[in-house]
Amino acid sequence: MSSQLRVLVTDTMEDLSSRSGQDPLKPLKANYDCQIWSKPERPGKAELQSALEGCHGLLCLITDRIDSDLIQSCSELRVISSCSVGVDHIDREAASTRGIPIGHTPGVLTETTADLTFALMLAAARRVAEGDTFVRSGGWKSDPNWGLASFVGVDVFGSTLGIIGLGGIGRAVARRAAGFGMRVMGWSRTPGPVAGVERVELPELLNQSDFVSINIALASETRGLIDREAISRMKPGSVLVNTARGGIVDDQALAQALAEGRLAAAGLDVFAGEPIGPEHPLAALDNVVMTPHIGSASLKTRMRMAELSVENCMAGLEGRPLLRCANQADLG
Ligand code: NAP
Repeated sequence: MSSQLRVLVTDTMEDLSSRSGQDPLKPLKANYDCQIWSKPERPGKAELQSALEGCHGLLCLITDRIDSDLIQSCSELRVISSCSVGVDHIDREAASTRGIPIGHTPGVLTETTADLTFALMLAAARRVAEGDTFVRSGGWKSDPNWGLASFVGVDVFGSTLGIIGLGGIGRAVARRAAGFGMRVMGWSRTPGPVAGVERVELPELLNQSDFVSINIALASETRGLIDREAISRMKPGSVLVNTARGGIVDDQALAQALAEGRLAAAGLDVFAGEPIGPEHPLAALDNVVMTPHIGSASLKTRMRMAELSVENCMAGLEGRPLLRCANQADLG
């Protein structure tokens, strides 16, 4: 250790290290006084507060809520580095007011998350999870009558896809859709042409799309964007895919539309109030395919995210500009 600067890291990253043969935290451990959260359960608010005392840097995950109280209570803090692209778990205003940069990891997870978006789109449309359960539970053997209407779904190829949020992942989803011969519509905050995407207003996108993919960041402006009214505007028999953040969609309204058959299916990687369990209204529906927030979960991508979050953290500790800073615009 060459510095007296202290860093709290809220994950050992041991699983990544053992699977990849490389410890992404090595440069941090070599250069700073690292305190690493190693308990199996995630730290709560009080535990984070006490562990952060006297720390100059914080390297955290999306499951750590970094609120205003926490930021204000830690007078030495110079940098918050999250191993994620989304930073809705961090109070941006509180960090910016104190001049603390927030590091994040856009770019390195774009293609991996777009892959999962397509996986969920295909799985929901073609009832892959339902079919899997049917075979495993013995349903196929006990009812072997293969019928023309058995497990019929909807076509992805040649249909219309509406992408909400044309950032890195939204654009990567659009590129994949071209290979499936889809007509691609898109709506996003910032105007301007996007290759292969027809820009439309949100109501038109909802009304005309066979598939709607949510790829927008969660912010105060987008929380609840796909509410009951937006869902009611969606084309009957369409499919909703969300790999962005749960808070963007009204889960209760979505569950109702799916249960009533107004929407054909949904593929969901994210939920309001994660983690969720079998008691969740969406979990009771056969026409929903769910994954536990694993959009960026390939070994290669998670390693790149971990490495970038370490680089961001070290830059902030040393007073250098972060490689990827989520609140750069606030800091000037
Ligand atoms: P990105 O390139 O930064 O794109 C962010 C998108 O959100 C852009 O479309 C941007 O609009 C829009 N946006 C940001 N702030 C907004 C605001 N306040 N109001 C309206 N629109 C806003 O990020 P990305 O890499 O594509 O990732 C998109 C989101 O996916 C992330 O924020 C994250 O929450 C989620 N994600 C989830 C997983 C997972 O594991 N499921 C993995 C990675 C990312 P403009 O570009 O039009 O300005």
